[in-house]
Amino acid sequence: MSDLYLKLVNTPVGKTAAQSLGLPSPVPLKRLKRVDQPFIEGDVLIGSAAGGKAVATIGSILSSSAAKLHHAAGINSLADSSMAGNKANALGLDQEITQKFSALIFDATGIKSPDELRALYDFFHPTIKKIAGNGRVLVIGQTPSSCRKAPHAAAQQALEGFVRAVGKEIGKKGATANLIWMAPAAEEQLDSSIRFFLSPRSAYVSGQCVRIGKGTTAPATNPVAPLTGKVALVTGASRGIGAAIAETLARDGATVIGLDIPPAMEELQKVTDAINGKALACDITDEAAPKLIADFAEEHFGGIDLVIHNAGITRDKTLGNMPEHFWDMTIAVNLSAEELIDEELTERGLLKDNGRIVCISSISGIAGNFGQTNYSTAKSGVIGYVESMAKHLKNGITINAIAPGFIETQMTAAMPMTIREAGRRMNSLSQGGQPVDVAEAIAWYCNPASSGVNGNVVRVCGQSLIGK
Ligand code: NAD
Repeated sequence: MSDLYLKLVNTPVGKTAAQSLGLPSPVPLKRLKRVDQPFIEGDVLIGSAAGGKAVATIGSILSSSAAKLHHAAGINSLADSSMAGNKANALGLDQEITQKFSALIFDATGIKSPDELRALYDFFHPTIKKIAGNGRVLVIGQTPSSCRKAPHAAAQQALEGFVRAVGKEIGKKGATANLIWMAPAAEEQLDSSIRFFLSPRSAYVSGQCVRIGKGTTAPATNPVAPLTGKVALVTGASRGIGAAIAETLARDGATVIGLDIPPAMEELQKVTDAINGKALACDITDEAAPKLIADFAEEHFGGIDLVIHNAGITRDKTLGNMPEHFWDMTIAVNLSAEELIDEELTERGLLKDNGRIVCISSISGIAGNFGQTNYSTAKSGVIGYVESMAKHLKNGITINAIAPGFIETQMTAAMPMTIREAGRRMNSLSQGGQPVDVAEAIAWYCNPASSGVNGNVVRVCGQSLIGK
C-alpha cells in the first residue's frame, strides 16, 4: 500500500501547500540500502555526565563506524548556567557549532540525582537544533530498578520522559530518539543495540526505552551475516510483515522455515523459494500444530534457533456485537498458539542454546483500540507472556516482543480510509512504517550479540501518539 500523501508532500508544490495549510510534512525515512553499509556516517557528537560508565564503550563501538567523532567536554562545568554564553566552547568544541550531527549520543549512566539531570540540558540545548534529517539521538542510562537510592532511580527513570519528549520534537526531521537502560557492568552488551539504534535499520523506531542485562558472552559473528548457521521459524510468512521477517533473517544468514495456513501455500512458496528456505503448511491453531512444527524442525534441522511468532489476525466488532468465534479465533491465533508451540519446542529440547523467541504484540495491546477488545486482549497477553517467560528461559535463550504501530500491509490496507489515514499520521514521523522496519528490529533481537536484550517490548511505531 503506498502512501500518496508522503510522496505528494515531498514535491516542491506539495511541500508549500502542506506548509501553508499547516498539514504534516513527513520526511522520507532512510532505510538500509546495503548490508555492508556503515551503521552510521557523518558527524557524531558524544557526551557524558560525570561518572559515565558507558562513554568509553560507546567511543570504541563508534570508532568502527564511518562517522567523524566529536567528544564534548565540560558538561559538568555547565551546571553553572553563567557559562552557557558561548555554548559550543563550553562543550569543548572548537568553534560555534556549524555542522549537522547525524547522531547525538549521551552517556547518562553517571546521573545519580535530579539535580544532575541538568547535564542533559547542557549537552542537548546547544546541539539539538543541529541534528540532521534522519538523525539519531541516543541516551544511555542505568536501569532504574538497579538503583538502590530513590533519587538515583528517579533521575534514571526521568530519562524516559526526556527521550520521549525529544523524539516528539525532532520527528518532523525524520530523526529519532531512543534510550538504552543498561544494567550495572553490562557495557559489553551495548554493541548490537547501539549499532541498531544509530543505523537506518531503526528508521521507524522512536521514543523507545530498552533494558539491557548482562547476557552471555557474544560469540564472534560475521558482521554482514550474523545469523549464519541459525535456523528460524517464521509464522505467517506468506505476506506482509512475516514475508519481510523471513527475507531479512535470510539476508542475515539464517535458514528460514516459513509457515502459513494451507490456502496461502502458493504465496508462501514464492517467499521461501526466493530465500532458499522451506515452506510449512500449518494452521497454528490446530491441535496438532505444535507437534507438526517440532517434528518438522527436528527432522530437517535437528532443532531450531529463532522462533518468530508473527501470524496474527484481527476480527473487529464492538464487544456487544462480537460473535463468540471472533473472540476465540483472535485469542487462539495471536496468543494461545504461541505458548503451545514454545512449550512443545522447549519440552522436547528443540529450542537450541542461545535461541531467540520473538512475539508480535501491537500498540492495540498497549493502549486498547475501539472495536478490538479481542485483539487488544490477545496482544496485551503477548506482553505478559514475554515478560514472564524472560525470567524463566535458560541456556542463553531470550524472548522479546515487538509492538508495531501502523505498518503498511494488507492488514492495514483493509482499514476504512479515515482510520487508515489517522493511523499513518498520528506519530512523530507522520507516516506509516514498512514491514521491513519490524523485520529489522527482529533481526536485532536475534543477533547473537543481543543476549542481554531480554523481556523487552519495543514499539516500531514512529512514536505513535497512542499509548505509552
Ligand atoms: P497479514 O494479515 O498481512 O499477515 C498475517 C499472516 O498470518 C498471513 O499470512 C496469514 O495467512 C497468517 N495467519 C493467520 N492466521 C494463521 C494461522 N492460524 N496459522 C498460520 N498462519 C496464520 O498481517 P501483517 O500486517 O503482516 O501482521 C503481522 C503481525 O503483525 C500480526 O501478528 C499482526 O497482528 C501484527 N501487527 C500488524 C500491524 C500492522 O500495522 N500491519 C500492527 C500491529 C501488529
